[in-house]
Amino acid sequence: MILHKEKGVNPRMTFCPRCGGDGPDIALLGNRDSVITCPFCNAANYGAFRSSDCGSCGQPLSGGESRKIEEHERIPGSLCKTCEEEVENFKKEVEKGGIYWKCDCGATGVIKGGSELAVQVREKSGIMEGPVGVTLEKCWVCEKGAKDGKENS
Ligand SMILES: [Zn+2]
Ligand SMILES: [Zn+2]
Ligand SMILES: [Zn+2]
Repeated sequence: MILHKEKGVNPRMTFCPRCGGDGPDIALLGNRDSVITCPFCNAANYGAFRSSDCGSCGQPLSGGESRKIEEHERIPGSLCKTCEEEVENFKKEVEKGGIYWKCDCGATGVIKGGSELAVQVREKSGIMEGPVGVTLEKCWVCEKGAKDGKENS
């Protein structure tokens, strides 16, 4: 790490990239205090330089929009404890034949192996082992939201 001229190690709080909650660690930016938006895939590259390649798509960032990371801005860090455990549990379930799902509402989860949908998706995709996923238009998270709204009114 190269120290920042005035701010030294230049620490920032982080947030969990999965749920947006508090991240478990502090990021030390040093002089890498810019965020560059990739001109190809729009990913935000924290701590990148113009000479770097995009961390998401690998294209050069030289033409991307660059701004300074603000003094009190939190930056994406590692997963929080809750998400880490959840991801680990998801992985175990998928190893047992479960499948990942994500919903248009942004929710994600795992459907247990052996359930009708999991079996169907695995048969259809031909992927009997290893990670496979589906995108849902509706899930219990947004369904529940809609139902709760009705019950309350
Ligand atoms: Zn989290
Ligand atoms: Zn990119
Ligand atoms: Zn949903």
